[in-house]
Amino acid sequence: MSKELSHVVILGSTGSIGKQALEVIDMHADRFKVVGLAARDEIDELAGQAEKYRPAMVAIGEAGCYQPLRHRLGNKYHVVAGIEGMCELAGQDDVDVVLVAVSGAIGILPTLAAIKRSRRIALANKETLVAAGEIVMSMAHTHHAPIIPVDSEHSAIFQCLAGESDHLRNIWLTASGGPFRDRGYEELAGVTVDMALQHPNWKMGPKITVDSATLMNKGLEVIEAHHLFAVPYDHIKVIIHKESVIHSMVELVDGAFLGHLGVADMRIPIQYALSYPRRLPSPAQALDFSQLGCIHFQAPDLKRFPLLGIAYEAGRLGGTLPAAINAANEVAVHKFLGGEISFLDITRLVETVMNAHENVTQPSLEDVFTADSWARGHCHEVVKKGKTI
Ligand code: MG
Repeated sequence: MSKELSHVVILGSTGSIGKQALEVIDMHADRFKVVGLAARDEIDELAGQAEKYRPAMVAIGEAGCYQPLRHRLGNKYHVVAGIEGMCELAGQDDVDVVLVAVSGAIGILPTLAAIKRSRRIALANKETLVAAGEIVMSMAHTHHAPIIPVDSEHSAIFQCLAGESDHLRNIWLTASGGPFRDRGYEELAGVTVDMALQHPNWKMGPKITVDSATLMNKGLEVIEAHHLFAVPYDHIKVIIHKESVIHSMVELVDGAFLGHLGVADMRIPIQYALSYPRRLPSPAQALDFSQLGCIHFQAPDLKRFPLLGIAYEAGRLGGTLPAAINAANEVAVHKFLGGEISFLDITRLVETVMNAHENVTQPSLEDVFTADSWARGHCHEVVKKGKTI
């Protein structure tokens, strides 16, 4: 690196990944400087972060929060709002790394804004690749913008694949199985929001924690891996490994497996994406194998967790279908968290959208957004009319 201090923009700084990224930055204040922060609508927390880190620019996603934030911060800060503001923040001058840690498809445009400026992208937002993978990866290639995954599985694979891409046989994504891995399908009908938010291993935001409980998270990760590593779906495998010690593996043509092991602490992959290609000491605990005992593996059960199979199918069919099921899942999870629908309704809603969607192959960005908003509207309509529920 030409300079010692790396300038970092964090999109989604008040979320789980964003806050853990700031912990990493606090620990390495001599290496990283925060030059941009963005959040959706958490005014107080964002303002507190801005006062602490004094970035060049602050963005608030909800336009209605702009005035209260301006009022709170005064004239000392450059405050921008809405999706345009997030894009301005991501594409500003003098930035080395843009951490995209917002939740949902809202991450697409700011990611593209940063890619167009050839910034390094630390990508924690899997929906960007799920919905618009081909467009994003081809633009990253054109603009020489490296994409370093933050998702723990993809960070693991990225590291295991270094220098081995030509020898790859299969990618093995590990999955904890979530809090309901040992429950029968009928038992899943009665699970509550609180139960779904108790992830056994990882500390994450509510949307992704529910996605882990349905295994949709792993399905989205399969599509994410397909785009990130340009690997066909037949060569992306999922294995349930409840201890989350192996964060994922690559299987090479000679039969060797390379795995990435460690404690389940998101600060490790976040820090790697920020410091890449260097490695720095981490505040995470070391893994103590002598205390580990057994680790387990089992094939995923697609009957109990059909969203994993649905995501594979949508990924294989491609076009706008992944964008549509991703949007449907976002709406469904939101409705589940809000107490509007049951846990099993999440799957039903995504399936309904999958069946009703008119797929557009080789989509433009506009097609992707059209599919996204169609799927959201369709979900609301279905729930309102009680068609499936
Ligand atoms: Mg993951």
